[in-house]
Amino acid sequence: MDRRAGFLNEALERKSWDEQRAAQAERLREVIAHAVANAPAVAATFRGAGLEPGDIRSLEDLARIPVTPKARLVELQKSAPPFGGLLAVPLDQVRRIFRSPGPIYDPQGLDEGWGWEEALFAAGFRRGDVCINTFGYQMTPAGMMFDDALGSLGCPLVPTGVGDREAQVEIMRALGVRGFAGMASFLLQIGEKAKEQGLDPRRDLGLEVAFTTAEPLSDALRSTVEDLFGLTLRQGFGTADCGCLAYECVEKGGMHLASRAIVEIADPETGAPLPAGDVGEVVVTLFNRAYPLLRFGTGDLSALEYGVCGCGRRSPKLRGWLGRSDQLVKVKGMFLHPGQVQAALRDFAEVARYRAVVTRAENRDLLTVKVEVAGAPDVPLRERLEARLREVLSIGASVEWVDPGTLPADGKVLEDLRTWD
Ligand SMILES: [Zn+2]
Repeated sequence: MDRRAGFLNEALERKSWDEQRAAQAERLREVIAHAVANAPAVAATFRGAGLEPGDIRSLEDLARIPVTPKARLVELQKSAPPFGGLLAVPLDQVRRIFRSPGPIYDPQGLDEGWGWEEALFAAGFRRGDVCINTFGYQMTPAGMMFDDALGSLGCPLVPTGVGDREAQVEIMRALGVRGFAGMASFLLQIGEKAKEQGLDPRRDLGLEVAFTTAEPLSDALRSTVEDLFGLTLRQGFGTADCGCLAYECVEKGGMHLASRAIVEIADPETGAPLPAGDVGEVVVTLFNRAYPLLRFGTGDLSALEYGVCGCGRRSPKLRGWLGRSDQLVKVKGMFLHPGQVQAALRDFAEVARYRAVVTRAENRDLLTVKVEVAGAPDVPLRERLEARLREVLSIGASVEWVDPGTLPADGKVLEDLRTWD
């Protein structure tokens, strides 16, 4: 079976990005007209911004709609329960209602899915693959999202949910399970359970393909899981409110934007779209009729990269999850987030631990990266670190050696010590 080739929707996914954008603009106009007419919260947003539905003709016009941050959904639902004026269809057109932490109640319209099929196909899932779906089925949507997607791909699935690793191993052996949907860290635990039982996951379990989301996937975890089972593991990016937004193809190197949503990278302060490559907040517009989220601010940080991918898909790639926008700090006029510091220092084996600290003296921001090194620090290493930091952060930082064990073990990568009074 060729798990590398093909597309779920070839005509769409291979279209030039400009053509895909033009098709999105058309769908956007329809969704806006429907939302403003039927969802009071959307109508209020338009009134507040002095906009008429007809003002939004193109994807460039979209930026005129203010971003609705996730926290605003909680407020809206509190003040106008239960859906905050965002439900745009009668209740008999709602299939399920999910509850996410906040709490936020997300309605799912009849015949409206979450779009993970495109991602699963790109990852290598194929019709007839028996799968286990280990995402949770209670209250939050992950379990149902993948249940729907696997079902419509033609993959029979066992709705195992999380837990009971022994039963997961037994099911995999009994049914010849080939696909796994769930957290990669949980798949690793299943593999360890199989080994405890004297099994070799590669030989005795037939897993060939796995898909993960909801937690950052490190290169180390990916290769450990791939080697343990002899499978291909790919990841996707999405949220409980929005569903699938981006996913890896066989080529990896970022996540293709899904065709089902408009994804922008926006300045977290102003909501203005940022140029390619810049880090900003992932802002999403869905084509849902039941629950029209327009410029929904996910609070997640990422960046978009344009280029040609070997798989043939033409959509740009999201660089992956780079942190939360509430962790952003503005230093020397530039946004800085913990993920950038991590990216800059990741490849230096000599660096044991680090912490970037922002201070201010004589009205100037200073960025100091305190580093604990394995072995004796030397001048060339400091110069290499400072050069890499400048390259990745686009601002200068000075490296300061500290004794091993000095930095607090609180997981903080970036600390802002400036005071403004
Ligand atoms: Zn690709």
